[in-house]
Amino acid sequence: MEIIYHTEMLTKTLGARISPAALKTMIAANLKQDRLLALVGHDEYHFDSNAFEAGYAYMEAQRQIVQRVLRNGADVIAAWQAFGRLTHAAQDFYAHSNYVYLWRDQFNGTEALPAPSGVIALDEVLLTHPKLHSGKVYFGEALIYVLPFLTPWVFPGLPEDSHAKMNLDYPERGEMFPYAIAAAEQRTIYEFDLLAERIITELGEAAWERFVNG
Ligand SMILES: [Zn+2]
Repeated sequence: MEIIYHTEMLTKTLGARISPAALKTMIAANLKQDRLLALVGHDEYHFDSNAFEAGYAYMEAQRQIVQRVLRNGADVIAAWQAFGRLTHAAQDFYAHSNYVYLWRDQFNGTEALPAPSGVIALDEVLLTHPKLHSGKVYFGEALIYVLPFLTPWVFPGLPEDSHAKMNLDYPERGEMFPYAIAAAEQRTIYEFDLLAERIITELGEAAWERFVNG
């Protein structure tokens, strides 16, 4: 997703739950995942190219960094950065996979599609659906990241399963964009609550308080 949406989603979902310093650090770490060098060759940061297992493993690695930092009493900034990176992957999942389309297809012809707020971000059936896939970053697309003026020539030739043709990174990508945002917001809160439960269980309320208010 474009940086304005990652920023807005984090502010909306976590702004009232964490300190301004924590929010600022998480946003910076989230956005840093989209630097050019991290866009190509790091499918797990963005759930690109069907890297579902790698993406989940990456998110788990970030949770473990948070636990380790808080357990060791190390600088809490490193924990905030890890969770910021986790939220980037969690949010990109909905923009780069066909998850919200699979969700929409459940309503095919039978009833009106609910508003974006009605989307279910963690539907087990859809998360393990055989047709779940995410856009592949083909060489041509990597090329237009570096040389954007080539877009009119390269874009039409990219396959339908390319990131370029599947993504819901910004509103002009179509009517499902607000659903990707709503699902990504839900998932961000879910991930925050999941982390809270883990930290409080292992390290107690004081450790979580330190994460939240630094
Ligand atoms: Zn990304």
